Amino acid sequence: MAFDLPGLDYDYAALEPHIDARTMEIHHTKHHQTYVTKLNAAIAGGEWDGKSIEDIMANVSKLPAVVRNNGGGHYNHTLFWKVMSPEGEGEPEGKLLEGIIEGFGSFDGFKEQFTNVAINQFGSGWAWLIQAGGILRITSTPNQDNPLMDLAEVKGLPILGIDVWEHAYYLKYQNRRNDYVGAFWNVINWDEVAKRMK
Ligand code: MN
Repeated sequence: MAFDLPGLDYDYAALEPHIDARTMEIHHTKHHQTYVTKLNAAIAGGEWDGKSIEDIMANVSKLPAVVRNNGGGHYNHTLFWKVMSPEGEGEPEGKLLEGIIEGFGSFDGFKEQFTNVAINQFGSGWAWLIQAGGILRITSTPNQDNPLMDLAEVKGLPILGIDVWEHAYYLKYQNRRNDYVGAFWNVINWDEVAKRMK
């Protein structure tokens, strides 16, 4: 029962000009594939073989670093592809918008806070919108950690995440992470984000 690289719901070029096709292709077929391959190799034939990725995340402190890094990489990228869409322009609605207003005052307030966290995550990592204790919060994690991990400083259910590793933007944006984070707002699949709320 090995993990598979999930397909995308859109073409590699579909998020242009915000995220370029070459970055998408390398990110999906090389980076994400490598996380899947190394995760499978690390758990093959052992106690965690056949367990869900969520179950592995919730127990990751008991597992070797290779599972933390590559299991996190698999979970994080699987979410990342889903929360983006070529029809991503627009704003959240319904219960998601209500949660954002409750948590951050307004959609603009949320955007500003999320952007700041994404830009200021030092080095490689992720910025997240999570649901925790019934409210929405923004947090960030280093490397391929995520808020589902039992060792995460701030835990919760990730409903939106942005990859701020340089491999996610360097070909198009070089060192300009702020431009990449700004462009991300044009490709967010708000319906998918809302669906992930419990
Ligand atoms: Mn990545």
